[in-house]
Amino acid sequence: MSTEIDVIIIGAGAAGLSAAKELMKQGLSYTVVEGSHRIGGRAYSEEIAPGVWFDLGCSYLHQGEVNPFGPIADELGVVIGREHGDIFAEGKLLFYHNGAQLSDADQQACMQYEQQCYDAISACVKRGEDSSIADLINLESPYAPPFMNGMAGLTSVDVDQCSVADLSDSGHGSDIPVLNGYGNLVARWAEGIPVSLNTKVESIDWSGKGVSVETNKGTIKARTVLSTVSNGILAANHIRFNPGLPDWKIDAINGLPTGTLNKTCLLFDKDIFGPDGRGFYHNWADGGEGSGIEASVMGQNLAIVFTGGRHTVWLEKQGQQAGHDFAVDQVAAVFGNDIRKSVSKSIITAWSTEPWTLGSYSCALPGQAHQRKELARSIDDRVFFAGEATINQHQATCHGAYLSGIRAAQEIKATLG
Ligand SMILES: Cc1cc2nc3c(=O)[nH]c(=O)nc-3n(C[C@H](O)[C@H](O)[C@H](O)COP(=O)(O)OP(=O)(O)OC[C@H]3O[C@@H](n4cnc5c(N)ncnc54)[C@H](O)[C@@H]3O)c2cc1C
Repeated sequence: MSTEIDVIIIGAGAAGLSAAKELMKQGLSYTVVEGSHRIGGRAYSEEIAPGVWFDLGCSYLHQGEVNPFGPIADELGVVIGREHGDIFAEGKLLFYHNGAQLSDADQQACMQYEQQCYDAISACVKRGEDSSIADLINLESPYAPPFMNGMAGLTSVDVDQCSVADLSDSGHGSDIPVLNGYGNLVARWAEGIPVSLNTKVESIDWSGKGVSVETNKGTIKARTVLSTVSNGILAANHIRFNPGLPDWKIDAINGLPTGTLNKTCLLFDKDIFGPDGRGFYHNWADGGEGSGIEASVMGQNLAIVFTGGRHTVWLEKQGQQAGHDFAVDQVAAVFGNDIRKSVSKSIITAWSTEPWTLGSYSCALPGQAHQRKELARSIDDRVFFAGEATINQHQATCHGAYLSGIRAAQEIKATLG
């Protein structure tokens, strides 16, 4: 392979692909190597029934008003559900406990509890402190379980493992679904970018001039390398560095573990939700685990059951049937036992053991929110980093990964001239 390449991009997820586009714009040469058989990484859609798509990874254009994939979708003529972007807004959030909907008074008390939690988080950050969410909230409240479930879904870890500074730094706005899949949208946008698939990077040697990247298909040399792999992959040392990474970079990797959010998509053979059924349901039972359920996704006969943190890692280990049964029980607790007869298919994700990510997305440990900047910092003007874990305010999102790829490509351009 050529020794004249400016940049080797590792990973063809949103970050690697946006870096490739930006490098092309900047007039630099690059090659993209992707270990798996497809592009998109954690942006990936599967067809659960003809014409009905399920996103195993990202599904909402978070911060919808400023999300760059909004205009990209418009330009490509891809349908996105701006009118459905209020799924997590008050009024769409409903709470079910022990198989029954909370009364209006209880629902109000529950929302008040959640507000108190958010106020405690904001106050902590205003004081310039960083602690875990668990340190700040009343864990004995009867409304703590749905809040903790929701947080584990949002952050991919449990409340004792999540930095409040990191959480408060994540952006707000609408959450826009994509009718035919966010993964498909990313794949459409990336059409034409040359990617060497099934090319796994084993090691990066930056001991001499430039970099030498060893893959399962041979060695590639270039002036610089850009890693966009998940922190799960970096923390597990799936890519060896020679010389080893400096301590400050290892601290950054370890401060931002890749947690787990899993989803089960249930397809029904008829409309079990009714005309007013669309919403996001927090369900929990005394002595049992709960979940968040998005019902009637974009008006289709689908429910997506979300679980995060330690419980979902445990459930994943129980196997696909256990994940399916759990999800059906959750939806039955809200919509009644009759729905069981109408389940026609399911897809269950297993992100904690997904070999190309080893988790779903990053979350800062308490006291470690500052590590995102350190993770983004290059080493010796030769080894660069991008990806969802390397950005503040848009962290752990697909568009955050996209923005981080552009940032890294511009840094490389500034370095190489
Ligand atoms: C369940 C779930 C739900 C989510 N929901 C949302 C959502 O609704 N909205 C949102 O915006 N975001 C969401 N996200 C997060 C979003 O999907 C990710 O933040 C984003 O897609 C990450 O992009 P990336 O480019 O940083 O990493 P990736 O997409 O992981 O890309 C990295 C690439 O590197 C490759 N790779 C790994 N190791 C090697 C190696 N050794 N050699 C070569 N290649 C390698 C991988 O195969 C992968 O393709 C969700 C994620 C999950 C898992």
